[in-house]
Amino acid sequence: MIRSHLVRNSLTLSFFNRGLSSHAGRLEGKIALITGAASGIGKATASKFISNGAKVVLADVEEELGQATAKQLGPNATFIPCDVSNEANVSDAVDFALSLHRRLDIMYNNAGIACNTPPSILDLDLAIFDKVMNINVRGVVAGIKHASRVMIPQQSGSILCTASVTGVMGGLAQHTYSVSKVAVIGIVKSMASELCKYGIRVNCISPFAIPTPFSINEMCRFFPGTEKEKLEKMIFDLSALEGAVCETNDIANAALYLASDDAKYVSGHNLVVDGSFTCFKRLNF
Ligand code: NAD
Repeated sequence: MIRSHLVRNSLTLSFFNRGLSSHAGRLEGKIALITGAASGIGKATASKFISNGAKVVLADVEEELGQATAKQLGPNATFIPCDVSNEANVSDAVDFALSLHRRLDIMYNNAGIACNTPPSILDLDLAIFDKVMNINVRGVVAGIKHASRVMIPQQSGSILCTASVTGVMGGLAQHTYSVSKVAVIGIVKSMASELCKYGIRVNCISPFAIPTPFSINEMCRFFPGTEKEKLEKMIFDLSALEGAVCETNDIANAALYLASDDAKYVSGHNLVVDGSFTCFKRLNF
């Protein structure tokens, strides 16, 4: 009686585990490099990829935070300092991933900054424009270039980038930031067309506002002295979708889909994760 109970339970358990591992292993054996991975969306995605069987190299300009994040994510996470606006750093990060794991399956160009540019084009300091472009656009191009030099000989790979709803709709953010994200969406389409003959897919994700250090800092500029919790609530209150808010995990789920074979025929796509915000027409009556 006890034995049959144990056998039944162990069968149930092994069936359950089988179900779990097939769900958990969507990136089993894959090697990923994620930029801007010390925090926010990059960190959440690194964690998601690892829990789905990948080994992840985290690249970020914030060395101390990056090391701490890698430690927190466990043995399948490794950190390398990298400023994406410096091509040699990006190249080194790709070579580091290669030296550790011998291949690169997923490159996620996620690092990006906001900017404190004035609302009017007449007051724009083009030095700030250049700084944002160097990180948000040049950094993405460098990531695609150096991932491609590994993925082309492999004849496979999935490249992801973080764009933004501000690249889809005008007037949501300062022009410089919006322009940088429009550029990311454009690069993705162009690179998807160039790299398809090598079996490499290129896609981007356009998140809606999520409270991360990036967006909280940006909000602080508009509402100086406001507490972090209040700013977080203000960001969540922007949500158009009743009963739901945009969280880093929503972007990590989108990245998991695009990185995995579930999206094997999806390339050149901008996956907008915005709870319908960009479809939402506000009527003034
Ligand atoms: P975050 O501040 O939590 O993370 C950004 C990370 O990028 C940080 O760890 C930072 O150190 C790193 N970084 C900054 N400059 C870098 C550089 N030159 N080289 C390497 N790393 C650098 O912010 P997040 O919200 O997770 O931002 C990630 C991406 O998401 C950005 O591209 C951002 O534009 C985009 N995004 C964010 C939101 C949002 O509301 N949070 C919305 C749409 C798009």
